[in-house]
Amino acid sequence: MSQLLADLLFPNVTETRDDLLKKYPVRGKNVVCTRLAPSPTGFLHIGGVYTALINRKIATQNNGVFMLRIEDTDKKREVPGSRKIITNVFNELGIKIDEGVTSETEEIGAYGPYVQSNRVEIYHILAKYLVEKGLAYPCFATEEELNEIRKNQESNHITPGYYKEYAKYRNTSIDEVKSFLALGKPYVLRFRVSDSAPERIKINDLIKGELEMDNNQNDFVLLKTDGIPTYHFAHACDDYLMHTSHVIRGDEWVSSLPIHIQLFEALDFSLPTYAHVAPVMKQEGESRRKLSKRKDPESNAEFYLEKGYPTKALYVYLYTLINSNFEEWYLANKDKDIEEFEVKFENMGLSGPLYDLDKLNNISSEIIYETSLEDNVNNLLKWANSYNVSDYNRFQNDLDFVKKIFMTQGPNSRERRKDLRNYSSFMETFGFLYDDYFNQSDVSEAQNFIDSVGKDRVSLVVNAYINYFNELKIENTAKTLKDLAKELGYTDKKKFQKNPEAYIGIFTEFYQILNLALSHKLNCISVDDVIAVLGFDEVINRLKKVLEWI
Ligand code: GLU
Repeated sequence: MSQLLADLLFPNVTETRDDLLKKYPVRGKNVVCTRLAPSPTGFLHIGGVYTALINRKIATQNNGVFMLRIEDTDKKREVPGSRKIITNVFNELGIKIDEGVTSETEEIGAYGPYVQSNRVEIYHILAKYLVEKGLAYPCFATEEELNEIRKNQESNHITPGYYKEYAKYRNTSIDEVKSFLALGKPYVLRFRVSDSAPERIKINDLIKGELEMDNNQNDFVLLKTDGIPTYHFAHACDDYLMHTSHVIRGDEWVSSLPIHIQLFEALDFSLPTYAHVAPVMKQEGESRRKLSKRKDPESNAEFYLEKGYPTKALYVYLYTLINSNFEEWYLANKDKDIEEFEVKFENMGLSGPLYDLDKLNNISSEIIYETSLEDNVNNLLKWANSYNVSDYNRFQNDLDFVKKIFMTQGPNSRERRKDLRNYSSFMETFGFLYDDYFNQSDVSEAQNFIDSVGKDRVSLVVNAYINYFNELKIENTAKTLKDLAKELGYTDKKKFQKNPEAYIGIFTEFYQILNLALSHKLNCISVDDVIAVLGFDEVINRLKKVLEWI
């Protein structure tokens, strides 16, 4: 009966499970093989990158293989162009793909195809095998029939589902199946859960430890009406035939483990080792929630490319989230390649780590600070070339100017500044040094400040600055800006508060007036740095412009 049914349902399938095992031989003893298996939804979540890095590291640390597989069995959720987006993120971030999909059109490796929609024949061979063994059957239940079954169960206080005696098409005769097929009735292929399936099961998870849970009792779907597999069936087929040793995936799949274990057993496949990763979380008020595609732009992996974060910053930050001991290791081993750090499952948290963009920004500023001038210029150009062509042309027009700006930054600079958090904020941070950008910049911050300080005082200070820089330009005076501030009657906060009548104001105001003249902002790089980039004449010119303006 089973063989007849199998031939009836899959008349064109001639290959067998054994043929597949020959085609996809075991990789060798104890070869570690991991994978990321994103769905092509038009978006790669930063949690996907996080999980990819764990998979990549575990493979590398064991001289193993890391694969990228595209899981496109849910056609409703598929967004065209996703494969390009996903592989582009991998390539840009330098996450090496040993096997699988490597670009929009290419894939590498002997265990492919690596896109599930190209593996339908494989799923059908294994589906036929399950039918032959009496472990799968066609179910012709309509939506109405399924609803009716559920309603009956609910009114009799019975656990709802499609199982045992409630599985209406479990024991359909071969003649009936034939007549349904002749009528063209749509059907799904369901798994037949064994009547002797235990109530509870235990499984070991490398992150979560031993898990005990209710077993699955439902005759779940293997192939949908269009013959496309469900995620569960494809997972068992692919991860066995590709010989994935460690399935490291999001912990939303923990609850599906009973189904997966039943499938591996039924297919007579050895079970991979599982490690379920908790999702990255975001603090919102008092509570925590998953980083959301809809609400949080930073949930999108492409965000980091568009913003121009150095790849290393993202790695350092994500490793910090992956392993609790990474940060300490990193600070103690600044001279080492971060890839020397060993990622361990036992150092992964059970609850999802908190995602904090400010922390990434700090790490990133630190890394840009430590990056050589040449590399910073190249990184900036590379970013601009991909994401902002007009900035790219501006930089290319005068590379020396870009270099001069970077000379104000880093450990060899006068003030050891670290103003840049990512390459896309270059113009926001240093744009004022470009005349056209400066002339068009928003002056409301400056205007409000002048209004609050008072025009007379601003003009007094600006005139003093003009004289000072004129003098400084011709003779190297020993007088500092602080001396000038004191001459004008500025002092520190403490002294001012004690005796406000004796002074004109506090030092901060004095420096802010200069910053506003130079950049239209209250804070900017030091005047010495501005002089180094623009020269005395332009500094004096910008100060004079303030006098015209007030
Ligand atoms: N396609 C699944 C997802 O995007 C992957 C789950 C897995 O890694 O097995 O969530």
